[in-house]
Amino acid sequence: MDRRRFIRQSTLTAGSLILSAHTPLKFYAGKKPEVLVIGAGFAGLAAALRLKQKGIPVTVIESRNRVGGRVFSHTVNENLVVELGGEWVGNSHTRMQELCATFGLPLENNQMDTHLIYKDQYNAPGSWSYSEEWNARFKRILETYPHLKDSDKQKLDQYDWWRFLVNNGCNGRDLDLRELLDSTDFGESIRHVSAFAALAEYAESSEKNEMDLKIKGGNAMLAQKMRDQIGSEHIYCDHHVSQIVQKDRVEVTCSNGKKFTGDKLICAIPTFSIQKIQWDPVLPAPYAAALNALQYARINKHALHFSERFWKEEAFDLVSDQSPHYFYHATKNQPSAEGVLIAYSIGDKAASNANQSNEFLANDIFRCLEPHFGNLRSLLKGQANYYWGNDAYSYGAYALYGIGQWFTVMPELKKKFLHTFFAGEHLADWQGFMEGAVNTGEAAADAATE
Ligand SMILES: Cc1cc2nc3c(=O)[nH]c(=O)nc-3n(C[C@H](O)[C@H](O)[C@H](O)COP(=O)(O)OP(=O)(O)OC[C@H]3O[C@@H](n4cnc5c(N)ncnc54)[C@H](O)[C@@H]3O)c2cc1C
Repeated sequence: MDRRRFIRQSTLTAGSLILSAHTPLKFYAGKKPEVLVIGAGFAGLAAALRLKQKGIPVTVIESRNRVGGRVFSHTVNENLVVELGGEWVGNSHTRMQELCATFGLPLENNQMDTHLIYKDQYNAPGSWSYSEEWNARFKRILETYPHLKDSDKQKLDQYDWWRFLVNNGCNGRDLDLRELLDSTDFGESIRHVSAFAALAEYAESSEKNEMDLKIKGGNAMLAQKMRDQIGSEHIYCDHHVSQIVQKDRVEVTCSNGKKFTGDKLICAIPTFSIQKIQWDPVLPAPYAAALNALQYARINKHALHFSERFWKEEAFDLVSDQSPHYFYHATKNQPSAEGVLIAYSIGDKAASNANQSNEFLANDIFRCLEPHFGNLRSLLKGQANYYWGNDAYSYGAYALYGIGQWFTVMPELKKKFLHTFFAGEHLADWQGFMEGAVNTGEAAADAATE
């Protein structure tokens, strides 16, 4: 299934969910199944919400002391909120938009106009681009995408996005810029990204590549609204699942000794965490091999709190070929003289930055920006850093489908295992997005209660 077909289907499902806010979707003549959900990220919460709306008893078990998972809003002072995890809601992300509308959460424009520092030269938005030849060539490539056959897509999955670009005549500065911009999207060098995964993303995304919107007050507000609707009494935070036994029913044991039983299980956690659980019976060998095969992208977010918004434009972002890699205004639309800039690095750069002190990182950032924006040291008020490559539950920001994996690894990881249905960003057509997490959670809830 391609993404467009998937979106059409999930929009239909979404319509029935909104209706179901007051009317259970399906009445059960016999005993209703009891469903356990592991993980209170957007996939687990969306699954539990859908089950609740169907009138199915549900219990959510979550390791962290909060809901939201990789959506992690951070308050810098009383009125500034930044995202250390999932940031942009895309214009194509209809299910996220519908959920926000259902809960009365306004979405604000969060599009940016990109500055560039390349080979020590600063370029304002509108003053730089790819070469005319490459722009024309890439437009033609995107136009051919809807006509690709399944076999063409599978062939594209056999090599990486960097090679695809080179084979299609992208070189020199154009290739450097694509590496800088596209690796920001995938969280690792494009030499590691499946050409199919990348082409599908660029051909099917909005003009700004789904970097369009953000929830006013922080994306975590949607997690909190879902939590309240599910009922906090059904969500066990600070409960880390360590063992799953599947016999006639399913029994889940947490590291604190607490046990839960149910008829069905929705496992909405990243692959690193799936592997850490002791499964009885053990996971099927092809499933275990797929878990071993999939890598996650490394992203480091370093938030810098400044006493004034020296970048002037609200829609400020900047790509550089230096180690801070990408900067964006993280407090757009939040009225204050003060502001927060996030320095966003990926892959090896992220891993290296994550090991440095705040002082070292600030100096690196000043070295990159001060030649073009003047003295910034006196404006810096504080810093916060989060490196997803060392996150205890995901060991990465989001799944990274490499060469030959989209059509092999993902279908394997989607398979049901006895009473267990899997969900999460890594299984989605909108993979790497909050939208994808929600889509898979709702689909798992439906599949578990068919
Ligand atoms: C830096 C960064 C930038 C991003 N940018 C964007 C963006 O701009 N736009 C966008 O749409 N998306 C973005 N994403 C991706 C988005 O945040 C994720 O796709 C989405 O939040 C994943 O949701 P999930 O429910 O699949 O997984 P998670 O959010 O990881 O939820 C899984 C939950 O399971 C819990 N868990 C794990 N193991 C266990 C266990 N054994 N027992 C109990 N609980 C367990 C975890 O604590 C976690 O809360 C970004 C992510 C990161 C990290």
